[in-house]
Amino acid sequence: LVGDTYVVNGSKIWTTHAHHANRMIALLRTSDTGRRQEGITAFGIDLTSPGVEIRPIISIDGEHEVNEVFFSDLRVPVGARIGGEGQGWKIAKYLLEFERGTGLFAGRLRSSLRRIERVARELGRLDDPEIAGDLGELTAEIDCFEMMEFMTLSPVEPGQSPGPVASVLKLRASRLKQATSQLGVKILGEEALRFDADVGQMTGTLVAEALSARAATIFGGAAEIQLSIIAKSLARL
Ligand SMILES: Cc1cc2nc3c(=O)[nH]c(=O)nc-3n(C[C@H](O)[C@H](O)[C@H](O)COP(=O)(O)OP(=O)(O)OC[C@H]3O[C@@H](n4cnc5c(N)ncnc54)[C@H](O)[C@@H]3O)c2cc1C
Repeated sequence: LVGDTYVVNGSKIWTTHAHHANRMIALLRTSDTGRRQEGITAFGIDLTSPGVEIRPIISIDGEHEVNEVFFSDLRVPVGARIGGEGQGWKIAKYLLEFERGTGLFAGRLRSSLRRIERVARELGRLDDPEIAGDLGELTAEIDCFEMMEFMTLSPVEPGQSPGPVASVLKLRASRLKQATSQLGVKILGEEALRFDADVGQMTGTLVAEALSARAATIFGGAAEIQLSIIAKSLARL
């Protein structure tokens, strides 16, 4: 902190859609003493300021969604601070419950499954009992998951957060996303091995989905972190 301005140096990797954004919530280290969590402060940073550079990261599926953001002597006014100094970790945990728990993922999972079913029909694979069984099982799983989402979110009053159950939803949604997209690859069979930019659009989309789904158990907090939160907060282990 210099006068009423914070001078920021460093970088943040994996910033989704930073190239479309003009603001970013950043958790910055403002102190090296005491508990590590207490040395973090939240800021709303103007990404158009001098001292900000956004470099693209192209993911395994060929998409540009994530970025690395670099800060070089970026000047951030005290007024851009969210909450008090050292409250960043608390604020981050609060925001993460919304990221993890309010995605309403079931609709998106169901639409992926429908697309996969369409490809299976086109390729004549719907008669394969194993494929039909997998489709049926995932349909039931997604329906159950949707009920869980409704049960969890409907009692959340405005102004309240979903609580640690958000980790259950995040974990289940990410595993269902991986299982669903993996079924798409199974249906394509050897065709999936030919994935590159020139492959027919549907083939490319299903393979791209399966590759990108690998990240689902990492972003928003890795699966093991969700399991730890569930064990500590819900199962009280
Ligand atoms: C596609 C993508 C998009 C992302 N978008 C954003 C974004 O927009 N904004 C943002 O801030 N971040 C974003 N991230 C970063 C993401 O939130 C982190 O990568 C994620 O939380 C994992 O943290 P980490 O990379 O530090 O790995 P770590 O947490 O260090 O995990 C590394 C490995 O160690 C394991 N591990 C860690 N701790 C424990 C433990 N206590 N017990 C058991 N195992 C453990 C993990 O399971 C994992 O296998 C994104 C990441 C990806 C891949």
